[in-house]
Amino acid sequence: MNKQSRIFVAGHRGMVGSALVRRLVAAGYTNVVTRTRLELDLMDQAAVNRFFEAEKIDVVLLAAARVGGIFANASRPGEFIYENLVIETNVIHAAYRAQVERLVFFGSSCIYPKQCPQPIREEYLLTSSLEPTNDAYAIAKIAGLKLCEAYNCEYNTQYVSLMPTNLYGPNDNYDLKSSHVLPALLRKAHEAKLNGADTLTVWGSGTPRREFLHVDDLAAATLFVLENNVMEGLFNVGVGEDLSIRELAECICKVVGFDGELVFDASKPDGTPRKLLDVSRLAQMGWRATIGLEQGIASTYREFVESYAGSPTAAAVQ
Ligand code: GDP
Repeated sequence: MNKQSRIFVAGHRGMVGSALVRRLVAAGYTNVVTRTRLELDLMDQAAVNRFFEAEKIDVVLLAAARVGGIFANASRPGEFIYENLVIETNVIHAAYRAQVERLVFFGSSCIYPKQCPQPIREEYLLTSSLEPTNDAYAIAKIAGLKLCEAYNCEYNTQYVSLMPTNLYGPNDNYDLKSSHVLPALLRKAHEAKLNGADTLTVWGSGTPRREFLHVDDLAAATLFVLENNVMEGLFNVGVGEDLSIRELAECICKVVGFDGELVFDASKPDGTPRKLLDVSRLAQMGWRATIGLEQGIASTYREFVESYAGSPTAAAVQ
């Protein structure tokens, strides 16, 4: 890979894809290729094949996916399994057919079993059952990484899979029904502060533990993998530390400046009790996350206020 390589970022409007584009451009890559959904429907295999035949892509960053938080995953498992299976199958197979040598596939830490020993090592994959609130999504992502492994084995491709922990940062989804916990609580705390509310509702018991990675750190890890010629394998990407949802809510309230009380809504699911990644595989190669949680939440909050909360359409950030 060099600075002139043609790098296709699939899903460039999403949180991960847009962070990848920012990072590539900042690092001096001059041929970053993107397509909107209207220009190229990744669910249409014939269209994806035509795109790869025409564009002479050198590297694919496969960040296009149907993603969402615990409620969206649990209530729309059909969409999550079908769309992710189709997108990854279409893109990975078309890339192989067009002799694209390098590809990075992005999954999620929810691919690992619910009752995994912690921190979670890559080799715990498929050692016991999945967390039911997101097993459809997890199965699709496991299929994607297995596709990469199988193609590497049979066709000598160099396809790598990165499994980030819970992500946050610019261009996140702030819709309360489909978002993940961090953007949801950021928005709730902001609105509670503006409305002078006394309380903020947190779903579940507040005891599950989660690990949060700023998406710019994921983009940095991706460039690290590409520039250091990591050719295959599965790599966890995280910070190596977690905290409880209660602690996360407290940290967000502090950053936002909301000093009301937290109320826990036990009718909402907790999901998996803990998912802390073991990040030593990438660390041994020389990569570590650098953005601290409070610092990352503060910059994300500034971006939220500028991009969403102040705009006329912000009343309904969908
Ligand atoms: P998960 O990591 O796949 O379980 O996905 P989420 O980020 O959606 O949820 C993580 C944890 O945060 C779960 O235990 C949720 O119940 C909890 N949580 C607390 N408040 C919220 C909220 O307002 N939205 C979401 N999505 N999760 C919340």
